[in-house]
Amino acid sequence: MDRLTIGSHISSSKGYEAMGKTAVYMNADTFAFFTRNPRGGKAKEIRPQDVEKYKKIAKDHHFGKIVAHAPYTMNACAAKEELREFARNTMEDDLKRMEYIPGNLYNFHPGSHVGQGAEVGIDKIAEILNQVLTPAWNTTVLLETMAGKGTEVGRTFEELREIMDRVTCRERLGVCLDTCHVWDGGYDIIRDLDGVVAEFDRVIGLENLKAVHLNDSKNPLGSHKDRHARIGEGEIGLEALSAVTRHPALRHLPFILETPNDEDGWAEEIRILREKFS
Ligand code: FE
Ligand code: FE
Ligand code: ZN
Repeated sequence: MDRLTIGSHISSSKGYEAMGKTAVYMNADTFAFFTRNPRGGKAKEIRPQDVEKYKKIAKDHHFGKIVAHAPYTMNACAAKEELREFARNTMEDDLKRMEYIPGNLYNFHPGSHVGQGAEVGIDKIAEILNQVLTPAWNTTVLLETMAGKGTEVGRTFEELREIMDRVTCRERLGVCLDTCHVWDGGYDIIRDLDGVVAEFDRVIGLENLKAVHLNDSKNPLGSHKDRHARIGEGEIGLEALSAVTRHPALRHLPFILETPNDEDGWAEEIRILREKFS
């Protein structure tokens, strides 16, 4: 009997133990959190005792891998070098901090090429990954599939593949699929989920898929908008999103809700998705 591993994004402001307790309250067995203020800046100090208390909760409640999220202001392919320096330092510091909770996942938005062109963007993103990733880290870094808003890199599976092909330390690199983003990017997960999964496998390889962001979308297929909706309140709908969690190639992955909701709302989404999973 397999179980759906699911949780939501949780505020990290009160530390690890508080996040673990919130997850348990929501009947979650994974969650996501920002490693620091999502707008960037200095991260709060980690208290080892707090981490130990969290680890006990995670063990007692059989948590799956958790998914830390890099600040979304981080742009590894910015035109300005000082912004890339910030991205490099932030990722490095975050990975250092992730060593307190080894064996988990850390996802980031590949970046926006801001008019330099996707190819330049891809090269710059890969360069930073090559500077930061080493086999010594106990965290897998995930490129997130993007909606293609503005000049975002990573709207197509091919662009993510091109980044991966340029990275040396492949054993520490994977992909996080965001259902709102791929839908907004033009992948029809309602009418052709099998086809999208097969396409992902052909271009990126399913073995590289490590997590799913489960979100509905406020906008139609291919809209390139990136506006998340609650599960069942958007254009993708509950049935299609539940089918994503039940897909034989995906069902073992950690699913993270990034829906505009509160703790009780997420608990309800988790309840419904668990019910439909079994
Ligand atoms: Fe994201
Ligand atoms: Fe996401
Ligand atoms: Zn998004």
